[in-house]
Amino acid sequence: MASINQNYRKLPGSYLFSTIGKKVREYESAHPDRKVIRLGIGDVTQPLAPEIIKALHLAVDEMGNRATFRGYAPDLGYDFLRNVIAKEDFQSRGCEISADEIFVSDGAKCDCGNIQEIFGPDNKIAVQDPVYPVYVDSNVMAGRTGTYDEKLQRFRDVIYMPCTAETGFAPELPNEVPDLIYLCFPNNPTGAVMKKEDLQEWVDYANKNGSVILYDAAYEAYIHEEDVPHSIFECEGAKGCAIEFRSFSKTAGFTGLRLGFTVIPKELKIDGVSVHDLWARRHGTKYNGAPYIVQRAGEAVYSEAGRQQIAEQIGVYMENARIISEGLKEAGYALSGGVNAPYIWMRTPDRMTSWEFFDYLLETANVVGTPGAGFGPHGEYYFRLTAFGDRENTIEAVERIKRL
Ligand SMILES: *Cc1c(COP(=O)(O)O)cnc(C)c1O
Repeated sequence: MASINQNYRKLPGSYLFSTIGKKVREYESAHPDRKVIRLGIGDVTQPLAPEIIKALHLAVDEMGNRATFRGYAPDLGYDFLRNVIAKEDFQSRGCEISADEIFVSDGAKCDCGNIQEIFGPDNKIAVQDPVYPVYVDSNVMAGRTGTYDEKLQRFRDVIYMPCTAETGFAPELPNEVPDLIYLCFPNNPTGAVMKKEDLQEWVDYANKNGSVILYDAAYEAYIHEEDVPHSIFECEGAKGCAIEFRSFSKTAGFTGLRLGFTVIPKELKIDGVSVHDLWARRHGTKYNGAPYIVQRAGEAVYSEAGRQQIAEQIGVYMENARIISEGLKEAGYALSGGVNAPYIWMRTPDRMTSWEFFDYLLETANVVGTPGAGFGPHGEYYFRLTAFGDRENTIEAVERIKRL
């Protein structure tokens, strides 16, 4: 008789975005005259840049012509894309990453979720709290986390690293040594970043203890400050202990197009086994490559015109972030983020819980955000606003919050 993977039953319901959706729908149907503004979404809203559309059209035409048609893509990505990524994202920043250390994929979520497969079932994981839920849930499915403690809202065998205002929402090195350490910078949901010298401490810690750092840099393109590393491979010794995830989703609006990549240096070995080779083997077995036309679109992101158009789009979002941050500060709210990331992480007023504040904001200002508690216990008493909305609505939402 068939049985199911019982680990899946340990997953708590993913209520966050469905609960938000339900509450908003109910409010809107009860108050059809009110215009609700959504600053909760974690998705881009601007259309793809012209240079990317041009590349897509060209590639589509190639697929309709016998001489230029392409079938299965190489498992690990086309050389034209891997070469430009290695050069522009890494070598130009002094990181010695070569094209054959880049694994092109259909996005960072899949890679962050799948990477745990190549590690042993007994590995202990550490995550930031609050956290992007994919890291924990994918390890729950694999049976690495123990059971869920309803009261503490935590899995019993996961090391949660609190990220609080006192440390600028960066975690501290854990006392109990994890085998796999998930770090996300610039961070979703807090918008926090880590300075290079601080990240170097994590790399040293991982090398000393034989841990592997799984570094999610999906928001790398939003970094504006000087001393913030764009890649973990800017740190000395990172090639011996780190894997990095990147995505075209937030960088260039590919959330619907799907493209990302993972960097695994050949130097990274565990018990003499090359992690790079294991991931290549895994890719070869379970994945058949990102679409040719999408990889051509990805290549266009690095062209001169593409770069410029994308910088303008990110500029629009970051101007929204500035408008939100300055407006809320004027209104007396304590907040962080919004400088190197499209997320603003605000403290709820008057010790309201994050869900109480959600209801209050929806009902009094008709503005929707995301309750921090949805990202983990240390997200309680915080609220996430995103800069992905359009300008007019962002301005209006801030005005409404200021009038409260
Ligand atoms: C949006 C996001 C990603 C990117 O996911 P894709 O699958 O590439 O769209 C990865 N990590 C974090 C933390 C994110 O917020």
